[in-house]
Amino acid sequence: MYKAPRGTHDILPEEWPYWERVMNLCHDLAGRYGYERLETPIFEETSLFVRGVGEGTDIVDKEMYTFRKGKSDLSLRPECTAGTMRAYLEHGMHTRPKPVKVYSLGSIFRYDRPQAGRYRQFWQFNVEAIGEIDPAVDVEIMSIAWQVFKELGFQGLSFQINSTGCPRCRPEYENQLRLYYRPHENRLDGDDRRRLDKNPLRLLDSKSPKAQPLIAGAPKISDYICEECTKHFMTVRRYLEILDRSYTVNHRLVRGLDYYTKTVFEVYAEGIGAQNALCGGGRYDGLIEELGGKPTPGVGFAMGLERVILLMKEQNIVVPDLPRPAVYLVYLGDEAKLSAVRLSESLRDAKIGAQMAFGSRSLGAQMKAANRAGARFVLMLGEDELAQESVTLRDMADGSQELVLLAQVTARLKDDIG
Ligand code: AMP
Repeated sequence: MYKAPRGTHDILPEEWPYWERVMNLCHDLAGRYGYERLETPIFEETSLFVRGVGEGTDIVDKEMYTFRKGKSDLSLRPECTAGTMRAYLEHGMHTRPKPVKVYSLGSIFRYDRPQAGRYRQFWQFNVEAIGEIDPAVDVEIMSIAWQVFKELGFQGLSFQINSTGCPRCRPEYENQLRLYYRPHENRLDGDDRRRLDKNPLRLLDSKSPKAQPLIAGAPKISDYICEECTKHFMTVRRYLEILDRSYTVNHRLVRGLDYYTKTVFEVYAEGIGAQNALCGGGRYDGLIEELGGKPTPGVGFAMGLERVILLMKEQNIVVPDLPRPAVYLVYLGDEAKLSAVRLSESLRDAKIGAQMAFGSRSLGAQMKAANRAGARFVLMLGEDELAQESVTLRDMADGSQELVLLAQVTARLKDDIG
């Protein structure tokens, strides 16, 4: 028996009420904030991610699904931002009014160790605002994530922010981190030791137990960021306060991807296990230039839909059932079946959801099937009905039945369904 590959999952019909609720909310909120949809391919040239996400990051070094086809070295996208920026550059979107505000909703691939809330193929809602340095855009981006969680009715989230500085001030902080860590190098595990040279900021979000006491005493980036970054961060905080948002400044919050500058943020939940980050993002003012464009600021976030849905279930968030066809057609005899085929199709033409029984089961079995399908109305066709060019309409709520002329049944159902 085949199974879905490790770390992937099927989304069965009974799961879709959750998925539809979240996806519809993402589309709705993106629209409300003025973000337009932009979808990029599932795979891109590998070098785009190496440039965009950065060598020395776990994503690029360990987690990409990379393959060769013809002369191309390709990778399944391990995040959405690099592809979105590639599209921005390729289509000359810099000529559009700024910021260019776009979003996407689709699958992401990372070869990571699967566990609850961590998959190898998962969904992200990805939102980006390109071309504007104003801290109000950082806050707008955060607000979209905030609003998704608020409208879903989530309780007890932790909203954390930090500034990771810019290429002018960060190198000095990275030096300070190296100076601080160097005497303790032998207490670090292999991954952390490599980070010390390549990507010392990442030492701050090391999960290794040995690293925790060192992290607690590490220098804070807020003591090293430049005036411009400090001002930007203070302005972001001021806007958050005006909006009455409760948040914490987490000095150790750095993001796994190289391209972040200034604002970074992450939202955490409780009760869904160790993989509790629901969404993360921030500013990436150097990314477009890194990918060959003119210096262009940008800010965005990505939200993991599987974790959002885990939390919906954990917090008993009720989702509406998805609409099912209101009408079910049953019949007795071949003539009546022909009539049922014709009538069910004409109902669908009239935008009325309809299903019909198949096979040659007894009327009782067909009625059972109608019940299971959750039909509100059953249309019954037999010899008598055919003789009178009519159909028996049964209201499943109260069991009442009446004969309706075939010529009038569509209009009648439209009225009843409303
Ligand atoms: P990242 O790009 O790593 O910051 O991820 C953004 C969001 O995507 C996270 O906050 C998670 O909600 C989600 N996410 C990241 N990695 C995974 C994964 N392996 N499985 C499921 N969701 C993930």
